[in-house]
Amino acid sequence: MGLDGRTLKIFQGVRREEKFDFSKHTTYGLGGSAGVAYYPENEKQTIAVFDYLSFNGKKFVTLGNGSNVLVSDNNFDGAVLMTKALTGLRRTGENTFFCQAGTTVSSLLKYCVSNGFGGLEYLAGIPATLGGLLFMNGGAGGKYIESNVVNVKFYDGKIHSFSNKNCRFGNKYSTMRDINCIILGAELRFTPQSDTVIKQKISEYLERRRFHPKGRSCGCIFKNVNGISAGKLIDDSGLKGFSIGGATVSCEHANFIISRGGSSSDVYLLINEVKRRVLEHTGIRLEEEVIYIGEFNDTFI
Ligand SMILES: Cc1cc2nc3c(=O)[nH]c(=O)nc-3n(C[C@H](O)[C@H](O)[C@H](O)COP(=O)(O)OP(=O)(O)OC[C@H]3O[C@@H](n4cnc5c(N)ncnc54)[C@H](O)[C@@H]3O)c2cc1C
Repeated sequence: MGLDGRTLKIFQGVRREEKFDFSKHTTYGLGGSAGVAYYPENEKQTIAVFDYLSFNGKKFVTLGNGSNVLVSDNNFDGAVLMTKALTGLRRTGENTFFCQAGTTVSSLLKYCVSNGFGGLEYLAGIPATLGGLLFMNGGAGGKYIESNVVNVKFYDGKIHSFSNKNCRFGNKYSTMRDINCIILGAELRFTPQSDTVIKQKISEYLERRRFHPKGRSCGCIFKNVNGISAGKLIDDSGLKGFSIGGATVSCEHANFIISRGGSSSDVYLLINEVKRRVLEHTGIRLEEEVIYIGEFNDTFI
């Protein structure tokens, strides 16, 4: 049985970009290209792209704001499903809103300030889309997106709505990571609050970030290990400032690897060398938070 005509028609109306350059769509500013990227603007289009690619057995990767990924320098032999145009929110209850997956943290916070809703201020400064946050339970200052989630809507060939509990949020984890799916959005709970208080809280969270390393990165490279800071383990192993090619372990925050005009393979080699040395020094095996896209060569220094 073929893809039905209606889905095909919707798919054909989706905006696409040929020769998609990952370096223009990731915070690292690194990575090769993919043949094509699709920019669905609503759920129907998103589902049609997912169905078209799945039905035709095409490899693809979903990309939000590209702030937690390291993309190979080699070309990616698949398509990209970009969520950046899948934006917006609608009210579902007194303090609840359904927000589409491509909505960015900055636009969510802008909406909250203008409409007197608090509860998301801890996200200030995270360069993420909601889909990326939900995928890995992002957050800051001890608060994570799970604290606002009522339910998550995703598509894996069928539409599902998972309650907060069924998402099994954890340390950089949600159950959506184990399912080949596209997150369409989530119902989030906000708290009524005056705009002055919201703005004040946002400033406080942004102030904490003032000392974060400058330069191109993907935030923290490694997950903390059973409450032990990965940054401290790297620092204790004497690796601050350690470089390979254009990639350097930040001297300000050892869990950040900054890229200064190098390649993804420099960052990849440095990640592996940091893992090796931390294991040697502390006996603890670090695990990546960053997500790899494409093929990397395991050639160690
Ligand atoms: C300077 C800087 C500071 C940061 N600070 C923080 C911080 O304080 N806290 C924190 O948690 N993170 C932080 N990060 C990391 C990053 O912003 C988060 O992990 C964020 O959640 C990633 O969102 P994204 O939209 O960029 O996702 P992407 O990087 O585009 O994607 C990440 C993963 O999510 C998947 N994905 C994205 N959208 C969807 C979707 N709709 N459906 C299915 N899968 C999807 C992608 O396939 C990929 O596997 C920081 C990054 C930078 C560069």
